[in-house]
Amino acid sequence: MRIDDLFGGDEPVFSFEFFPPKTPEGEANLFRAVEELRTLDPAYVSVTYGAGGSTRDRTLDAVRRIREEHGLEAMAHLTCVGATVDELRAQLDRFRDAGVENVLALRGDPPAGQGDWVPTEGGFSHARELVELLAAEYPFTIAAACFPETHPHATSPEDDLRHLRDKVDAGVSFLITQLFFDNAVYVDFVARARDIGIEVPIVPGIMPITDVAQIKRVTELCGATLPDPLLSQLEARAGDPEAVEDFGVAYATLQCAELLAMGAPGIQFYTLNRAPATRAILSALKLMRPWEAERSLAAAPAA
Ligand code: FAD
Repeated sequence: MRIDDLFGGDEPVFSFEFFPPKTPEGEANLFRAVEELRTLDPAYVSVTYGAGGSTRDRTLDAVRRIREEHGLEAMAHLTCVGATVDELRAQLDRFRDAGVENVLALRGDPPAGQGDWVPTEGGFSHARELVELLAAEYPFTIAAACFPETHPHATSPEDDLRHLRDKVDAGVSFLITQLFFDNAVYVDFVARARDIGIEVPIVPGIMPITDVAQIKRVTELCGATLPDPLLSQLEARAGDPEAVEDFGVAYATLQCAELLAMGAPGIQFYTLNRAPATRAILSALKLMRPWEAERSLAAAPAA
């Protein structure tokens, strides 16, 4: 199933991101989460792509198992890290031969310990080139990443947006955002993207907060902002993991409800291979259906 066919209907496109497991325990964990979240009937799931050699096959293994054994559409991520164009083609051939129909095309980050991005000799410098290869030679639906708070290494927000438009114009059908916690940032980003001519769906990527230290680490790595009032609420609960998770679920549920009520085309949940928080949030959203909320209370009669 091509994911680009799913946008534009009455229902938001809900999806889950997983990462490929490295150990038998991780594998059991992943497929338990997939089974638990499958009951929420996601439109599709996506599987990240690791930077290092052997982890690469794990993406395809997980995608294959999710499609064949769990009956869900699964999109494979692919990065340009450490690969020549021929190696990327070989990987894409494997994806195609395994029946993959949707690919998230990424540049990737420099390997740990290497500050600046240096393209591999014979490889690509930017995700746009990978999108061009995909569009020219493969039948996949192509998705790509975008950064409402600007990519951390971009020369400016304007340059970042221009590069994003070029990437989309090369053949991207929809975008998924980096995680963010302030909906005003997304609203502003979508407006700027539309102004510059980016017309594809821009799906918010939402990470439910379940652990204070972890979310600080993740946001520091990816350049997303934890607004001060949110951080204060988290720190007030730092010694009580259950309270953090409860608060994280409440916050993400309200965040998603507002985004959907404003017309966001769907939500991609960054699950970190854990089901409970995402399950609680999406279950509540599916009951309340905020995307249908065009209600306004009747005004009180004039006194
Ligand atoms: P690009 O679109 O290439 O942009 C990277 C930088 O280059 C930006 O600063 C951009 O402004 C600049 N740029 C683009 N084109 C040009 C140009 N022509 N000239 C000069 N500068 C230019 N990482 C993984 O390793 N595996 C994953 O599975 C993974 N999944 C992700 C999923 C999502 C939804 C997101 C948001 C990120 C994901 N990442 C993943 C992280 C991602 O690989 C990094 O954030 C990476 O640094 C940027 O990737 P990109 O595809 O956006 O790169």
